[in-house]
Amino acid sequence: MNFRATILTLYPEMFPGPLGVSLSGEALKSGLWSLEARQIREHGLGRHRAVDDTPSGGGPGMVLRCDVLGAAIDAACPPDDERPRLLMSPRGRPFSQSRARDLAAGPGIVIICGRFEGVDERVIEARGLEEVSIGDYVLSGGEIPAMVLLDACVRLIPGVMGKVHSGDEESFENGLLEYPHYTRPREWEGRSIPDVLNSGDHAAIARWRRARALELTKARRPDLIGD
Ligand code: SAH
Repeated sequence: MNFRATILTLYPEMFPGPLGVSLSGEALKSGLWSLEARQIREHGLGRHRAVDDTPSGGGPGMVLRCDVLGAAIDAACPPDDERPRLLMSPRGRPFSQSRARDLAAGPGIVIICGRFEGVDERVIEARGLEEVSIGDYVLSGGEIPAMVLLDACVRLIPGVMGKVHSGDEESFENGLLEYPHYTRPREWEGRSIPDVLNSGDHAAIARWRRARALELTKARRPDLIGD
């Protein structure tokens, strides 16, 4: 079964957006994954299809209503739908490459995009939503986070990147940042490519890359090495 993504949003016109081009776009056209963006407002209340209301207890902004979101979720996925239900949220557990791998190996995802101040807590509990964050900053809506998450997953779906490039040596895959890349020309503005890369000695190249990866990781992300 192919990877199915369902997005619940107030702005379905934002999709597929950047996911419709290049690697993810080709994979979408060839059916390696599918994308359905559903309008939450279809379940809005009254003549104006209201989806939000003022926060209980006061305070600024508006909150997405649990009854509206609950109905939108129920219409999008039946109770036996096995896909994880993720709510994009700065309060969530940080998204990671290993989570992307796990998700890409599964049946797909249902992603709920928040807006305003967020969503009524009760729908998170009642529909078993898992909050996921893409980083420690606040964006104005969950759509861009949903695209970030999907892009990371889609390129890992078998067949999307092709056999030649498994992604095994990429940043985070082995707990390290990636080594530096070079290509032609051999000389540019007085800078040359490290000799070892033109040596043809594959073991020496592998050692050099590993050493550079370690060096970069220690300098930029000591937290990944954990000592
Ligand atoms: N008041 C909230 C922020 C709301 S931002 C708080 O302080 O936590 C509006 C919506 O944008 C959120 O509901 C969420 O869906 C999305 N969003 C914003 N920043 C995000 C992030 N870093 N990761 C994932 N989603 C985010």
